[in-house]
Amino acid sequence: MLAASDEAGRLAALRQLSLLDTAPSDEFDRITLLAARCLAAPMAMITLIDQDRQWVKSRHGLDLTETPRAASFCDHTIRGDEGLVIADASEDPRFRGNPLVDGAPHIRFYAGAPLITRDRYAIGAICVLDQKPRTITAAERHTLEILAAQVMVLIELRHSSGRLHPTSRLPNAIQFDEDLADLTRRQRGQSRLFVMLDIADPDHLPTHINLLGPRWERDLPAAMIRGIRAAFGEDFPIYHPLSLRFGFLLDPSVTTGWQEKLDQMAAHLRRPINETLPVALFPSIGVVPFRLGDFMDKALLQRGVLAAHEARAVGRVLTTARGQSATDDWHDAHMLLGELRRALDVPGQLTLAFQPRLDFRSGACRAVEALIRWNHPTLGPVSPGEFIPLVENTALMTDLTYWVMDAAMRQIAEFHEQGLSLRVSINVSAGDLQNSDIVGRITALLRRYRLPADAIELEFTESSLLPNRTVVHQQLRAIRDLGVEIAIDDFGTGYSNLAYLKSMPATVVKLDQSFIRVLATSARDRAIVKAAILMAHELGYRVVAEGVETAEICAMVAGWSCDEGQGYHIGRPMDAETLALWLADRELPPVAVSLP
Ligand code: C2E
Ligand code: MG
Ligand code: MG
Repeated sequence: MLAASDEAGRLAALRQLSLLDTAPSDEFDRITLLAARCLAAPMAMITLIDQDRQWVKSRHGLDLTETPRAASFCDHTIRGDEGLVIADASEDPRFRGNPLVDGAPHIRFYAGAPLITRDRYAIGAICVLDQKPRTITAAERHTLEILAAQVMVLIELRHSSGRLHPTSRLPNAIQFDEDLADLTRRQRGQSRLFVMLDIADPDHLPTHINLLGPRWERDLPAAMIRGIRAAFGEDFPIYHPLSLRFGFLLDPSVTTGWQEKLDQMAAHLRRPINETLPVALFPSIGVVPFRLGDFMDKALLQRGVLAAHEARAVGRVLTTARGQSATDDWHDAHMLLGELRRALDVPGQLTLAFQPRLDFRSGACRAVEALIRWNHPTLGPVSPGEFIPLVENTALMTDLTYWVMDAAMRQIAEFHEQGLSLRVSINVSAGDLQNSDIVGRITALLRRYRLPADAIELEFTESSLLPNRTVVHQQLRAIRDLGVEIAIDDFGTGYSNLAYLKSMPATVVKLDQSFIRVLATSARDRAIVKAAILMAHELGYRVVAEGVETAEICAMVAGWSCDEGQGYHIGRPMDAETLALWLADRELPPVAVSLP
């Protein structure tokens, strides 16, 4: 017996399979074709009976995607488990006035077998149709039942073989890729938008999880789905490809006003997710416009993740430019990393440039910053701005940092031997601080090159100091205890404040170039820089202004008691030989200010 009277249970069972409104699929279409062939019928369909509509999962010989439930033949089929045969619909009172009989596709003959779940819910049917009246044999009827069972095997296989995300029960990355491949086979070249949502700001997530308790894993995805549905409706699949990320496809020619709907969705998602708790999501939303066929394998998902990530950085919905290919980017990045790995092993490609820092009080250059230079045999010079961000967060970063440390210390030891007492400042990345070996390495290098610890300074950007505060703090403390100076680089570009940084054992603050370069024209930046110098001094830091490009700026910051300056006006980054000449040539400082 079918669980026929339990319509709510039937609908729940249907929805749980996440099959409604999914992309067409060859696997289903093959069974539909087989049904038409085996029963010598011109038309066949696999349908699902939703609350008010019949939705066609697969069709052969007719062009029907959806009908009202009242017009559905299959809706009669799902009421029993025997299947239904209508020899001539025009003679059957149940189909008098039916639009599918009176109009296209002018159905006269219908034979259907219900699709029955393990829990005995009939969710739809497989059927054959003809425009002429006819009958079928018992054997044909049996074939239809076998095909119905086959459809259910397919549905349940898809459902159970890891195509749904375990918490949300939404189709996962595997299903996404398969649907995309199916869609591409049918509509190659057509425009689509891929919308990717990243559920919450990683900084807020721990608070959310704390407030929601064990329900977080269920509540956060549920809120996300509600927000998407509120703006875009029910009739399309939402994918849950990665743990805290959701995605869906839009056809911009069908979904008019999608930009407004995205804003609407974002606004909805920023509301508290349940009445009692003021937890709201701040998802980042990335949109990737593409043509079906542009992306292979996981490349669209990858592009979506990147778009959402970039959207968080700029703080708004971000639509990436059409034609950007994730695969190209990936190949470039991959290629560059491979080349850099080789460059670390063969001498000659990597070198260091040294940029002098001017001490305003004495007018002397006491410190230089080591900046890496990469001259690739075929690519030519590759800027650190291009490859450092790629290398960061890979295992290669530490190798690169150690290479720089070794080369910088070797060079500074040579300068010392020539009687030039210089300190070298070395840029260190966030990941290097997680590496417990860094203190040992520095100690070993100092010993090897017979350098005092204060001959080197390590520069960390503000943002690298923020995560993993405890580990970072311990490592910095250990480095500082060696007697090595520690500078906070690019100060002012992150979100930290001096009070927080004060807990870090740093000795120098380098004000970021973005504030310094504009000093001549921006009163606001003048105020910021003056105040920052004052406060940094108050807290006991030495202050270095980066990006000193003109004599005017040089005089300005020196006049505000900034300790040192670095920038093109003072000296560009140069190789060691040029630096030695530059130092020898230096006369009195080009700073015309009266220092207190
Ligand atoms: P940074 O540490 O802030 O280095 C200063 C950058 O500003 C350098 O760029 C330098 O050439 C440039 N610069 C110096 N004075 C001026 C000026 O007056 N005007 C302008 N417009 N720019 C100036 P570079 O060498 O291209 O390095 C870019 C960034 O790459 C560095 O920024 C640093 O974050 C990173 N980097 C460079 N070498 C290394 C390294 O060995 N290790 C690590 N982890 N990062 C490095
Ligand atoms: Mg630096
Ligand atoms: Mg800097």
